Amino acid sequence: MVTKESKPKARSSTAAKKVEPKAPVKVTRSTPIKVLNRDRSPRELGIEILARFYMGEMDLDMVKRRALRYEGRTIGDDEAVLMLLSDMIRNAEDHQLKARLMEAIAEFYSILGQDPRRVLAEMHKTELGIFKEIGFEHVTISCKDGACPACRKHDGAKLSVEEALALMPLPHAACTRKVHSKAAPFCRCKYFGEFVG
Ligand SMILES: [Zn+2]
Ligand SMILES: [Zn+2]
Repeated sequence: MVTKESKPKARSSTAAKKVEPKAPVKVTRSTPIKVLNRDRSPRELGIEILARFYMGEMDLDMVKRRALRYEGRTIGDDEAVLMLLSDMIRNAEDHQLKARLMEAIAEFYSILGQDPRRVLAEMHKTELGIFKEIGFEHVTISCKDGACPACRKHDGAKLSVEEALALMPLPHAACTRKVHSKAAPFCRCKYFGEFVG
């Protein structure tokens, strides 16, 4: 009779797995939205955006209660999301954070089917201000792979920070992808700072 052989239950992996270096980056609870889905409610999508700034459902509902109590107004989830983000912009001291919040508002507008470009322009202006402060002299325009053909035409264009501030080429005036659709969120063309001309 065969006695029970001692089969190791689980292979103990002695091989030192590569140790993930703890990068000194802020932990965000949400990853950037990859595919936005119109089937999801503005509330759900709004909460996803708010999570990037460590806010959530409780904050959303608090804003709605506050509007009702102090202003006698019943506000929707979409307005509440925008109020929370706007409040944060007002209180943000950090320009980077301000720019990220503006981008979030633009994204949410886009999800709601509204033109996000006014907010995007504000965001780019803020970003250019940051570049100027850091000492970048030039910026390069970079479009994401999924950008519309009108935007892609300008991919790689280089200009001075001053020119960019004067001309405000972003968001692209001819962009055809302003309002989010399931397959294609708005074009996220960006500036990258360059030290040398
Ligand atoms: Zn663009
Ligand atoms: Zn575009």
